[in-house]
This record gives sequence, C-alpha cells and structure tokens, in this order.
Amino acid sequence: MTVSAEYPLSQVRQVERLVRGVLTSDGAGVRLTRVLTQNLQRRLDPFLMLDAFRNENPDDYIGGFPDHPHRGFETVTYMIAGRMRHHDSVGNEGLLGPGGAQWMTTGSGLLHSEMPEQEEGLMEGFQLWLNLPAKNKMIAPFYRDIPSAAIPEYRRDDGVRVRVIAGASHGVAGAVQRPDTEPLYLDVHLPAGSSFEQAIPPGFNAFTYTYRGSVEIAGTTVPDSHMAILANDGGNGIRVTASEDSRLLIAAGNPLKEPIAQWGPFVMNTNDEIQQAARDYQAGLFEAAHVQSLTA
Ligand code: MN
Repeated sequence: MTVSAEYPLSQVRQVERLVRGVLTSDGAGVRLTRVLTQNLQRRLDPFLMLDAFRNENPDDYIGGFPDHPHRGFETVTYMIAGRMRHHDSVGNEGLLGPGGAQWMTTGSGLLHSEMPEQEEGLMEGFQLWLNLPAKNKMIAPFYRDIPSAAIPEYRRDDGVRVRVIAGASHGVAGAVQRPDTEPLYLDVHLPAGSSFEQAIPPGFNAFTYTYRGSVEIAGTTVPDSHMAILANDGGNGIRVTASEDSRLLIAAGNPLKEPIAQWGPFVMNTNDEIQQAARDYQAGLFEAAHVQSLTA
C-alpha cells in the first residue's frame, strides 16, 4: 500500500450496510458461513469470497475439503483455532495452525485438499478469495505457509493488538504484499473502550468482519459475526471503537474493474475461459503429472 496518512484521519468512512452471511456447507460437509457471497463480488472487487467457520462439533468439520481444483485467483486461509493440513498437486504440503495463514496463488490451476488435523475441539478460521488481474490468471501456482510467529504484529500500551497479514498498518509491513490488488488484511484485537484507526486509500473497496464482541464504526454498531461494507464516500480510512472486548478483520483492496466469470472453484474473466478450465480439469491437466504444463 502506498498510503501515507496523517493520524487522526481527516474523514472516516461510514458503514454502507451490514451483512450477516449465509449458513451453508462446502467440501465434505464443513459447516460455514459464506459472508462475502457472489452477489457482492463487484461491490467488493478485488475480493471474491469470505467464508467464516467456527465449529465446536467435529461432525461439522471432520470431512474437510478433499481434493478439488482452483484456477484464476488467490486463497488466503487464516486460522484462529484448530489445525488443517494442506496438500496440492504442485507438491506443496503444509500444516496450518492457530494464528497462522496460508497464501495460495492458484494461477493456472492445481488440485488441493484441506483436511482437519484433529478429531475434537474448536476449529475456527477464515478463507478469503482475492482475485488476480487478467494478465496473471495463468501464472504458475504459488504457495506460502506463514506460521503465527511470522505474522508481523504490534501492540499498543492500551492493549490494542494488530496482526498485519497483508499490506501495512502504522508503518508495520505485513507478511504478504501483492501488486495490482494491493490487499490490506488485518486482524485487530481491541479491549473494551479502545479505538483504532487505519488509513485506507479512498478508491479501495473495504470491509470489516467482527468475530468477537461488538464494535462501533462511524455510529453504526457492528456485532459479532457481521460484515460491515465500508462506504466509498471519500473517507481516507476507518475508525473502530470497541463496545466490549472485540476482535475483527479489516480488509481492503484496489479494485481490478475487470469482468468476473465464476463457476465454482474457477474464477476467470469470460465464460469461454471457464469452459476451458472445466475441459482442462476433465482432461486431468490439474493433476500432479501435468499441472506445470498449464502455465502461460
Ligand atoms: Mn480450496
């Protein structure tokens, strides 16, 4: 992010609307809330999806996400509790644990699985989908595990804790920087009564997701398990105040303003490209022996 803001911010963004999300299941019966749904993809460009999962009952997660393909975007998984093991057809393997993230650029395509590495206890986290620009949709797949200790963070004297997964916050560079979409992705922990400001360029689409407690943003209460879509009203950032001990995600990105064509796990620019992805998948080209042949 190339923003250098003066704090306190001169004009904070308002909340345009609150979104509760849709309870659904995906993979082999994993119960989750799809917070950012397909009808919000244009409004929240370059973000395509946000899933939130918080399951105590193993029946709601034990099936995991067996082998499935992706093409054309990036997945960012961030764990709060529990462990998931990742395998893919490029040959990567990783164990994702509490506080850790996994950044996967699916590019031209791969098969992967995401399976729970536990049989009991809480499984909680998020998966965010970030689009790739048309020029990069067929690049080679890229994968990075970021253990919790490798996520930059800072703590203020008043107890505010900010974990910088991507982008930058108050001079602290995040674990990941991406061109084009320039994503900001923060996990912010706020003690009751504390406030936090974050600069966001006025042209970026932005949202928050409260996953503990309740916060107030420009006069709007954003309770637990709610997304707030921030208005594109010229404001140069966000101010959040915690009504109680709270935790929230803040995400912002530079919109690509390109056509979006999605069919399930493929996100391209045209229907022809989607049909090509389906043909390549059926022809076995996402499997380990062939996956590199797809790269543009
Ligand atoms: Mn997946």
